[in-house]
Amino acid sequence: MGNEPIVGAVIRYSGIVQGVGFRPFVYRCVRDVDLKGSVQNTDNGVLIRIDGTRKDIEGFFCTVKENPPVLAEIHKSSISFCNPFGYSDFTIIESKEKNSGFTPVSPDISACPDCLAEVFDKEDRRFLYPFTNCTNCGPRFTIIRSIPYDRKNTSMRSFRLCPECLSEYKDPADRRYHAQPNACPVCGPGLRLISAAGEEIAGDPVKKASELLLKGNVVAVKGLGGYHLAVNPVMAKAVKRLRKRKRRPGKPFALMARDIGTAKDFCVIDKKAENLLTSFESPIVLLKKSAVAASLSNDVAPDTDWLGIMLPYTPLHHILLREGPQILVMTSANISEEPLVFRDEDAIRSLSTIADAFLIHNREIVRPCDDSVVALVRGNTVPVRRSRGYVPRALPIGPFKSQVLAAGPSEKNTFCVLKDGNAYMSHHIGNLVNEKSVDAYTEGIEDFLKMFRVELDAIACDLHPDYVSTRYAEDLSRKNNLPLYYIQHHHAHIASVLAENRITEKVIGVALDGTGYGPDGTIWGGEFLIADRKNYERAGYYTPVPMPGGEKSVLETDRMGLSYLISAYGSLTCIPGFDFIDAFEKPRLQMIGKMIDSGINCPLTSSCGRLFDAVSALIGLCKRPSYDAQGAILLEKEAGDLKDLTSPYWYEIDAERAVHFEPTIVEIVKDLKNGESAQRISRKFHSTIVLSGVEMCGKIKKMTGIKKVTLSGGVFQNRLILEHFKDQLEERGFSVFLNRFVPPNDGGISLGQGVVALSKII
Ligand code: ZN
Ligand code: ZN
Ligand code: FE
Repeated sequence: MGNEPIVGAVIRYSGIVQGVGFRPFVYRCVRDVDLKGSVQNTDNGVLIRIDGTRKDIEGFFCTVKENPPVLAEIHKSSISFCNPFGYSDFTIIESKEKNSGFTPVSPDISACPDCLAEVFDKEDRRFLYPFTNCTNCGPRFTIIRSIPYDRKNTSMRSFRLCPECLSEYKDPADRRYHAQPNACPVCGPGLRLISAAGEEIAGDPVKKASELLLKGNVVAVKGLGGYHLAVNPVMAKAVKRLRKRKRRPGKPFALMARDIGTAKDFCVIDKKAENLLTSFESPIVLLKKSAVAASLSNDVAPDTDWLGIMLPYTPLHHILLREGPQILVMTSANISEEPLVFRDEDAIRSLSTIADAFLIHNREIVRPCDDSVVALVRGNTVPVRRSRGYVPRALPIGPFKSQVLAAGPSEKNTFCVLKDGNAYMSHHIGNLVNEKSVDAYTEGIEDFLKMFRVELDAIACDLHPDYVSTRYAEDLSRKNNLPLYYIQHHHAHIASVLAENRITEKVIGVALDGTGYGPDGTIWGGEFLIADRKNYERAGYYTPVPMPGGEKSVLETDRMGLSYLISAYGSLTCIPGFDFIDAFEKPRLQMIGKMIDSGINCPLTSSCGRLFDAVSALIGLCKRPSYDAQGAILLEKEAGDLKDLTSPYWYEIDAERAVHFEPTIVEIVKDLKNGESAQRISRKFHSTIVLSGVEMCGKIKKMTGIKKVTLSGGVFQNRLILEHFKDQLEERGFSVFLNRFVPPNDGGISLGQGVVALSKII
């Protein structure tokens, strides 16, 4: 062995290989096999020059490739042999200055067990230090100003490492070797507690904040990607106060539990859920309330049997939940439709009427990042919001050359840049309905284009002419003379599933959704498409009904109820009297009736979401939703655990494959007049939606032979619809594909837009 010749080699790894402890990992690997050389970060990844025997080098290359550090993700690797370089030891070379390529940055990672052990060790120099982190954990995406990822390019730049931290930072054998946000109580960021009036509150900030929380006060807490509003969820009055101040009457609040044991006291948690909660992404997981959850104020999540719960993900959260209540409401700090507050000035200005105190720190948040939300449906993770912990991780979508920006939708906006075979979805931007959210949107896009060094070949946007995102895309395309692709909303929904599941052939795309602009000028949302990544045709749809007053009928859902009644009975005068009709003020009833008759300001819609709204209003569950999909959420709650589908209401699918729900509405009215329970009606309605959809898929299969079905669109956040739709299709021999990494709601649209545009370019 000893006389095997020494050769040289150049090894490259790219992907998520910076800021994840990659170089020290390499250092430890080569030490084990006595190789000499160097490792360095480049703009494209990691570059290793190495001397040794061919066998040792190849062994090392494979070890790193197959078992990289936990947070690393190798997308590409290469090795080429050459003459020996003549190294006498192994060194880690400082990062080079930027040039043309780029390396994806890592998401923010929840505090690791090693760091937490130090934080709660009385003897450790980081005892109770809220900004403890290492190469395996801590902030990344939210502190990076520019790449390569080095301390000087982050918001840690202003903190000078103390001698002890510096020696950790410089020691390749240390867990904090090149941990860019490395900090300790001597040299790192610190906390302050200020009153709503802006005065410093003396004493230990976390202890004082905990006391305030225990007393029922609202505390604004600056975290990783923005501010939370925290309150004690066991105190009904305190939760009510927060709802009132935030002007958020019903939308569920997220919770943060001290640890997994505590979380289990409030929700039903199986192994899958536990894995998600304790993962380094640390999302909010939607879980069934347990009996003990009764000790929580009903105002935490009044409309649903599910709780959004997460575990502490920074040392600050861990310390706060040890000192204070064992569970907290931790809701994103924003004013109704405005984006998440993440700058200190904005927080103090806009939250001082909501929070009684501010727990803040002086590590600047460079870009906002909301908590992510995931649901578990039959063991499948269904993303609801993909943001902190996941963004900006690459989604590999197959080989392509062009670089594309997908502008996304107008609600639950995310945008997406596509480059080098990967899609990089943005953090959650939200609804583009006011100046601040539009600013966050445009700043976000400029930031991503820079961070990922994108040189655009094309832009993709929604077909809707009035979306802010469409207008932004048009503007950018004009200014830069770039081709613009208008992508139909539901085609984009379906394409997102195609991309995630690596499907290239034609499928039946079922898009049950709220609102999406159709090429015929009507509003789509109950769609059965035959689609591949490039093209689609509308093979079936819900029969359109008028939306009296347009968007107004989304806010006043009894308008949709009335619209469906008029479609079902032919005219206002033919509708039999029942509670829903009797509850209308006469002039309003006549006004809406006339509007529908004349067709003025009554766009037509085939939206499934609007049908849910209508039924929820007819039953009397919800006529004025205070948040998105409240009517549907209440209807789902009413149905309870629907283990087996019931017999459906009567519906019809005509020769043009339009589904008619007029007979459904007539039967619902009959049930209501007979005093049938809301639960029974809701169960029959859910069954109707599933069985009509499945029958439609059968018809399309008969016509085309296609057996693959993709399900997407906001309605598939309804657990009962998703579970039963999938089961029923599979029972009939279909293969069913769902969104896995991006949400089925509009938060996943930009991925689909980008993928359709790419397939049109090639
Ligand atoms: Zn750590
Ligand atoms: Zn230090
Ligand atoms: Fe949609």
